[in-house]
This record gives sequence, C-alpha cells and structure tokens, in this order.
Amino acid sequence: MLRVAVVGSGPSGCYTAQCLVQQDSSVRVDVLDRLPCPYGLVRYGVAPDHEKIKSLQNTLRAVLEHERVRFLGGVQVGGAGGLPAARLRELYHAVVYCVGAATDRRLGIHGEDLPGSWSATEFVSWYSAHPDAVDGAFLRDARAAVVIGVGNVAVDVARMLARAAADLSPTDLPQAALDALAASRVTEIQMVGRRGPSQARFTTKELRELGTLPDTDVVVDPQELALDPGYADPSGLPAAQRRNVEVLRGWAGTPPTGAARRIRLRFHLRPVELLADGGGRVGAVRFERTAPDGRGGVSGTGRYEDVEAQLVLRSVGYRGVPLEGLPFDAAAGTVPNREGRVLRDGVVSPGEYVAGWIKRGPTGVIGTNRPCAKETVASLLADAAVLARRPPPGDPLVRLRAAGIEPVPWAGWQAIEQAEAELGVSLGRGTVKLPDWQSLLTAARGAAS
Ligand code: NAP
Repeated sequence: MLRVAVVGSGPSGCYTAQCLVQQDSSVRVDVLDRLPCPYGLVRYGVAPDHEKIKSLQNTLRAVLEHERVRFLGGVQVGGAGGLPAARLRELYHAVVYCVGAATDRRLGIHGEDLPGSWSATEFVSWYSAHPDAVDGAFLRDARAAVVIGVGNVAVDVARMLARAAADLSPTDLPQAALDALAASRVTEIQMVGRRGPSQARFTTKELRELGTLPDTDVVVDPQELALDPGYADPSGLPAAQRRNVEVLRGWAGTPPTGAARRIRLRFHLRPVELLADGGGRVGAVRFERTAPDGRGGVSGTGRYEDVEAQLVLRSVGYRGVPLEGLPFDAAAGTVPNREGRVLRDGVVSPGEYVAGWIKRGPTGVIGTNRPCAKETVASLLADAAVLARRPPPGDPLVRLRAAGIEPVPWAGWQAIEQAEAELGVSLGRGTVKLPDWQSLLTAARGAAS
C-alpha cells in the first residue's frame, strides 16, 4: 500500500486524489485541508451566482467519498501551530502540495492601502463566507466603485456589485453579505485595464454575462477601444481575444438605456495613485493614459485621469505564498518543480510533489488543474517503487492524534452542510453558508458527539 497525503482540497487537490486512486489500486490518499470545509476556491472563490460552476462540488465530492480517499479537515500544514512539512513527510510515502496561490499581487502604488481600497480577494472571501474574511463594510457610503484589472475575478466582483438582491437571495451568499449588497448604493462601477481590449484576460462567456444583468447598462467608449490596434483590426487575434473584441464592439454600438446601474469597461489606463478624500478614505484613483508599445505592452503618455471611487477593488491576480519547510521561487510565486517533483536547490526532493497554482502559477480555469494533476501523479507513480522502500509508521491519523491534532472528518463536513441547509430554511432561502470559524466548528463537532 502506498500512503499519499494531498495538502489542499480544492480542484487541484481533488483531481490529484482522483488520478492517484484511479491509476493505482494500492494507493490510499488522505486529503488534508486547513479548513473544516473542502473544495478550496470552488467553495470560497467561485461567485455564488455561478451555480453551474459551483455544482462541480458534486464531482469533487465523489472523489472525497471514494473508499480509498479520506478527508481530514482543520489540519494546518506549516506556519505557526501547524504540522511541520518535515513531520508530515514522515507520516506518508509521499506528499503532494496543492495549496494554491493564497494571496494577492500588490500594485505597489501610493495610497494602495487607504481605507476603502481592498484586494478583490478580500471582497470575494467576504461574500463567499470564508471564515478568515473580514467584514470590511465594503459598501458603506460607496456610490462609485473602481475595479482595477480586467481578468475573470474583476468580472466576478463587478458583476456581484451590480447584481440585485433578488438575484442573489437564492444563492448560498451569507446573510450579512446579502443584506449589505441589498442596501448597496453603488450605481457606477468602472473596470479598468492597463492594456487594450484585445489583451484583456477575461473569458468571453464571463464578459458576455455582464450584458445580461438586470437594470444594468454596460458602457464602453469606442474611441478608447480604438486605441488598441487589435480592436481596429481583430483579424490577426487568437479566437478567444477576437470574441472578446466582438462583444465589446457590440456594446460600443449600443446606447445606454438609463438603467439604475452602469458597468463601464475602461482600457489603456494604468493606476498610478489612489487619492484620499477629505476624511482620509479613498476618493478617487489616478490613472495614466497608456499607448501600445508595439511589443504587447504599453507605455505611459503623461496624461492623467482621476476616476471617482469610494470603493476600490484591486483585482490584479493571485500570488503563491511560501509554505514553511518547502522551497519557494519568490519571483514566480511557485514551488520549484520538475513535472510536479519538488526541487530543492535544483535537485529532486524524494516524496514531495506539487500540483495546481502552487506548481504553475495562478492561471487557467478549473479544468486546467486536471492535466496538471495528471502530470504530477504520473511522476509520483513512476517513483512509487523507490518511495515504497521507506514505509511510514502505520495509520497517519493515529500519529496526528498523538500529536494533538484532531482532524474534522468527512462526517463533520456533512454536518456543516446540514447546518447550512437548516440555516437556509430558517431564513426562507436555500442553503446559506456559515460565515465564521465558531459556527463551522460547532456544526462539525455536532457530528462527532
Ligand atoms: P488574471 O487573469 O491574471 O488577470 C489579472 C488582471 O490584472 C489583468 O488584466 C492584468 O493586466 C491586471 N494587472 C496585473 N498587474 C497589474 C498592475 N500592476 N496594474 C494594473 N493592472 C494589472 O487574474 P484573475 O482575474 O485574478 O484570475 C486568476 C485566474 O482565475 C485566471 O486564470 C482566471 O481565468 C481564473 N478565474 C476564472 C473564473 C471563471 O472561469 N469564471 C473566475 C475567476 C477566476 P495585464 O494583462 O496587463 O497584466
């Protein structure tokens, strides 16, 4: 028997576990997660109104319920109070780290941390009921919001700001977030890219969805779009970019209807500073107009524009964080690896692997994690004979408990699901997420007692 620990129960962790048990009948997998809940960004990143993508949880559930897979929630690996990576390594033949990219890229500009300026991830964590999220009163006194960046996360947060409460009530949005969004007075949302429309990172399906939001106009300025040669002549663009450009062209030719809310898509503006209002909160973002540099990038023009915003969401990508005891490439934000095998000083570290964003960086859609996991699993199983020479000391769960760690079992997670269903009934809604550690752990413990 080959015992493997997978650290992280998001898509990459679940796909890794699935590949392992499918490809080798002697493998047993423990999927560890620092949270008592599984599914990583599918639970805590995919927007609540994207129910179809969320339903992927059913596929991931089947993996975690496989007879040779065991979910161990509430187990932190590395960090203060966590199980050291070296200790975990002793308990298993192999460990696969699928810990994602847990933080945000920084803009590195003056005023970035003014009150009212948040990373998109902070906002996403709040409306996703992540137990570590802060309730930043994001929407208090805000009428205009600026979202910096034009990737799919930017589209998610812009859409959530524009959605009416009636659309959100049937989702699993936590009640406090629903109440705050229902009371929101944000009517002006500007989503701003530093490069041109043909270089935006959002996918066409997500972009198009903005045009379907009730009582919301999507506004683009044809002259601004035309600063991008790829917009004027999209014939040489890859198909995905060409489709984006065509959607934007359609909006450019559609006059606003006077709807209650507007999402303005802006391009060729790079943020240079966040400006404070009289009370020391963010009041505007100063952008510099950019021009294409002919090499896919942009250069500044020395012309500036201030865009009003009482709420700024910086949506410029995720970043991996170092896990104590594992090597880390600070420039790439990933763990150095060769086909998923962790490299320490350029040399393969036996029994240590990575998959997902911590392996290749925060790019791609959920499905991209499947081939990524497959590659890592192929490496691991090719090493199996060597790994099997060093048997770990019995059932790792016994060892974890001896070390004072009592993981949340699958039944604990099922009890959380049950509590969320009951909360939804009491609120006259569908399932509603529990938003804090205490309620999650109380529900999980209920299963154990
Ligand atoms: P992303 O796709 O990498 O987009 C980041 C955006 O930030 C880009 O527009 C980038 O512009 C911009 N940016 C970076 N640094 C900047 C700076 N200093 N100043 C101004 N703009 C800056 O990241 P993401 O939106 O966080 O998404 C991460 C991944 O998750 C992506 O693969 C995405 O597709 C995926 N995702 C998918 C879905 C979905 O399928 N529905 C939903 C959410 C996320 P440049 O291009 O100029 O660098």
